[in-house]
Formats: sequence, C-alpha cells, structure tokens
Amino acid sequence: MSDCLFCKIIAGEIPSSKVYEDELCYAFHDIDPQAPMHFLVIPKAHIGSCGEITAENSAVVAHIFEVISKIAEEQSITDFRVVSNCGEQAGQSVHHLHFHVLAGRDMTWPPG
Ligand code: C5P
Repeated sequence: MSDCLFCKIIAGEIPSSKVYEDELCYAFHDIDPQAPMHFLVIPKAHIGSCGEITAENSAVVAHIFEVISKIAEEQSITDFRVVSNCGEQAGQSVHHLHFHVLAGRDMTWPPG
C-alpha cells in the first residue's frame, strides 16, 4: 500500500534498523523501544492487522513465528513477549500487521 508506513520501510523509503529479512518478512528494531530488546516482525505483503488474517494469507504468520524463534535463539534470548495490537483501542497505531518482540526486563500481566 502506497500510504503505509511499514510498506515504505520494507521498500527502503523510510530508514529502519534491520534485524532480519527474507522473502516473506522483515524484522527491525522498534524506533521507540519499550524494553532493552524490542523489535518488530512484519509480513512483506500488506495485511492490516490480526483481524485481517485469513486462510489465504495465514501461512506468513506461522513463518513469522518461526523467524521469531530463530532470532531469539541467535541472540540467546530465552524469555520474551510477543504482542500484536489489533485496532486502535488495543493500541495499534500502524495499520500493517506487526508482532512486537520484547525482552531483557521483567514484565507484568495484565498489560496496560
Ligand atoms: O502496536 P503499534 O501499532 O502501536 O506499534 C507500532 C510500533 O511501530 C511502535 O512501537 C512504534 O514505535 C514503531 N515504529 C517504528 N518505526 C517507525 C514508526 C513506528 O519502529 N518509523
């Protein structure tokens, strides 16, 4: 989508600090980290949010979770949280599906 911030990051039109990339997804450090380690993993194909995952596009979600596991192992992260905010009331500010991966500090439950 031409007006999507994360599509522009994938295209290299907006700078980001890359963690990982393959043909299906892109991972980069969050610009406003909420933990010592905080990166985002996004599908390269535009999906608006978790609420737009369907039988036709869900394979990339399984792939993203494989990638998260791989990055965690490579970076020796054993304890981490994966979050995807869906909709503005849930805290979603960028309308391109993304998974936050946070690590490196104690975390509380429930989230605020
Ligand atoms: O869940 P939410 O939609 O609020 O998450 C969007 C995330 O994208 C935020 O954590 C924000 O810091 C991050 N972001 C970024 N780089 C940008 C713009 C936003 O890492 N250029």
